[in-house]
Amino acid sequence: MAKIIDGKAISAQIRAEIAAEVASMPVKPGLSVIIVGDDPASKVYVRNKHKACGEVGIRSEVIELPASATQEELDAVIDRLNADESVSGILCQLPLPKGLSEDEVIARIDPKKDVDAFSAVNVGHIMLGDPVFLPCTPAGVMELLKRSGVEVKGKSCVVVGRSNIVGKPMAMLLLKADGTVTVCHSKTADLKAVTSAADILVVAIGRAKFITADMVKEGAAVIDVGMDRDENGRLCGDVDFDAVSEKAGYITPVPGGVGPMTITMLLKNTVAAAKLQAGEKNQ
Ligand code: NAP
Repeated sequence: MAKIIDGKAISAQIRAEIAAEVASMPVKPGLSVIIVGDDPASKVYVRNKHKACGEVGIRSEVIELPASATQEELDAVIDRLNADESVSGILCQLPLPKGLSEDEVIARIDPKKDVDAFSAVNVGHIMLGDPVFLPCTPAGVMELLKRSGVEVKGKSCVVVGRSNIVGKPMAMLLLKADGTVTVCHSKTADLKAVTSAADILVVAIGRAKFITADMVKEGAAVIDVGMDRDENGRLCGDVDFDAVSEKAGYITPVPGGVGPMTITMLLKNTVAAAKLQAGEKNQ
């Protein structure tokens, strides 16, 4: 039976560390979250981020724009936040309603305030192995591995999924930690042959219970980034948890695995942004 990696407990531990750090800062970091429209899932994510900030002493505001907002109106909000010294971090909750450009929004946020690490500048730093901000979900995965005692160095690491927000930056962080990394996607021939050779398997595809026990190596560390619904509408991951946990050495549950870590890493980045900006001011 695999050791269950408890993302809630690890997340609580890191949030306590962040709260202690924030308490020692003379000027508290501030996060501004923009939400456009009424997408219910986005509203829940934004509410959770706002609440998490409050719990660690980070100031936060939620700026709500109607779904009818124009690109110019959204751009103007970002410009105002970029110029506001009391704002350390900015994020715009995605997806945006039709007619608004996510690329333009990401490009417009000042890279020094881009706490999601989505901008080309920050992605470039990640690619160069010298990140300014760590991409939140992949950074959360790395913390789960580290704090569970799973060594990455020299291990065969397989990432299933190549999205810009999870799969690709995940591969970069594993590589930086000296893993030997393979990235799989929907066109991968014989996925099972690749996944079943992995010492560390990170899955981010968005298909409920897609990874079955026969696709996993005995004793592997299996990290499930997926947030899906099963046939009964219950939240589940991309990994068939019940069967895979009988074979893996470590496994993250859904919920309670990677999920809580993403917001925790956002809090960490907001603190890092505040420090970066304070450092520049004092130069
Ligand atoms: P995405 O942008 O839809 O990307 C999915 C990736 O999976 C693509 O690269 C796709 O390959 C690949 N894929 C799809 N079907 C596949 C298959 N049958 N075999 C192999 N690869 C396959 O998704 P995402 O944004 O990365 O999110 C992935 C999952 O993680 C979702 O369930 C999402 O809700 C969850 N998520 C969770 C968190 C968290 O905080 N826990 C954060 C972000 C995302 P192609 O590129 O070839 O199409």
